[in-house]
Amino acid sequence: MNASPATTPFTGRLLIDGELTTTKATYPTLNPATGEVLGHAPDATAADAETAIAAARRAFDTTAWATDTELRVRCLRQLHAALDEHREQLRDLTIAEAGAPRMLTHGPQLDEPLGLLTYYARLAETYTFTEDLGESEQRGQRHHRWAEKEPAGVVAAILPYNFPNQLALAKLAPALAAGCTVVLKAAPETPLTTLALADLIAGHTDIPPGVVNIISSSGVETGKVLTTHRDIDMVTFTGSTATGRRIMAAAGDTVKKVFLELGGKSAMIVLDDADFARAAMFAAFTICSHSGQGCALTSRLLVPRAHHDAIVNLVAAGMERVRVGDPADPKTAMGPLISARQREKVDGMVRRAVEAGATLVAGGKPIDPGFFYAPTLLAGVDEDSEIAQDEVFGPVLVVIPYDDEDHAVRIANNSVYGLSGAVHSADEQRAIRVARRIRTGTFSINGGNYFAPDVPFGGYKQSGIGRESGRAGFEEFLETKAFATVVGTA
Ligand code: NAD
Repeated sequence: MNASPATTPFTGRLLIDGELTTTKATYPTLNPATGEVLGHAPDATAADAETAIAAARRAFDTTAWATDTELRVRCLRQLHAALDEHREQLRDLTIAEAGAPRMLTHGPQLDEPLGLLTYYARLAETYTFTEDLGESEQRGQRHHRWAEKEPAGVVAAILPYNFPNQLALAKLAPALAAGCTVVLKAAPETPLTTLALADLIAGHTDIPPGVVNIISSSGVETGKVLTTHRDIDMVTFTGSTATGRRIMAAAGDTVKKVFLELGGKSAMIVLDDADFARAAMFAAFTICSHSGQGCALTSRLLVPRAHHDAIVNLVAAGMERVRVGDPADPKTAMGPLISARQREKVDGMVRRAVEAGATLVAGGKPIDPGFFYAPTLLAGVDEDSEIAQDEVFGPVLVVIPYDDEDHAVRIANNSVYGLSGAVHSADEQRAIRVARRIRTGTFSINGGNYFAPDVPFGGYKQSGIGRESGRAGFEEFLETKAFATVVGTA
């Protein structure tokens, strides 16, 4: 790696069986704000993935990791301390590689996710792993039954590019707290940020060799090995719904436990009694957060038909206030998209939306240099059109008019996705009633923030299976074993 070699403590190496190592082949990773090469990352092969899996299997089967809760809690706290100590260097790397605005790294891109480690350390300490099911009488004997929670085993964790620190820790922290061992695969676009964890784990924690293995690769071969290998017990994946489908099918042959956090096309509903100016500001800034590259961002704005034009004007004014530019600048609210390819995809979808009859109110164009795309507003959008149905993963908000509350609920639910949603109303109880009718895993009422280490996060429908974070996110990494003994005759 050659990102800021003078200052970075991170070496850009893989972690396999406790060793920091590299590969013959490397590949370039780009700074999306400039389009220039930031550094080079190891390009792991299928054989490297197999070595990592063997190490994780050995660590799970032959060491005390799965049973020594005290050791696990200590290691989680050590990793937290190491991340805290190297926070500023990791911040700079995250800004440079993911294009995340500095202000976002003070929230969900870096600072907030560190809390996942302390949250799961505490949960592992206090969690009741045994449930006493009492006695029963069967065939003339009395039986004592109980159930114990055990770690799920060897976990393959596969990451997307958009929130590398949050997503790595949302998988690693609960998996390790539960007693699993892990092979973590970085996203091809953000390898160095994820590999920073390898340096911190190897250099600053007592995590035994093989318990955490971290690899990066430019292609999908390593991911395919991770999802099909018989020594992997569980796959935890975050990424697109298309890849999620492939992973679910691939994992089927060996009947792995599969946890999926996938795409979204979430709706923000502005009810007719809402503070339109406030809701419009929320809508504008939300879609520009990390340039729209957030799975749970609300990308459809549903507005009362009678107020469509007025709200569109307010949102357009809000978008003008979003400061777009160098993500390293503390005042920047929106940085670039991750790649030229992603920008082309976004631009193509906007062009097709306009051809299909949507009105382009703002944006709709690339900004050079780097992979920036202007905050984009499309009005009068047909709820069934491509731009209203498919995930864009860019700063593109579509406005859809509705006739009444039932109609708004129908449009919000008119999606194969079910990740998140938002509603604005002067009447909080009315807003909550509407939120209950939408088939999604999370919901924000009047700007409420549900995103935190202790809150379960995930999707209905094709947005995924299972929950990340919170107690539910811990239990995903546990198996349940039932026991019974004979205690006497009836
Ligand atoms: P992606 O699906 O293209 O890739 C994600 C990861 O899967 C990468 O590491 C990639 O190398 C790997 N992969 C690709 N094909 C594979 C295969 N056949 N087998 C195994 N692994 C394979 O996603 P992306 O473009 O990196 O991220 C954007 C997507 O992620 C969006 O759809 C977004 O909604 C979703 N996302 C969802 C959540 C959530 O929590 N629901 C969070 C963040 C991102």
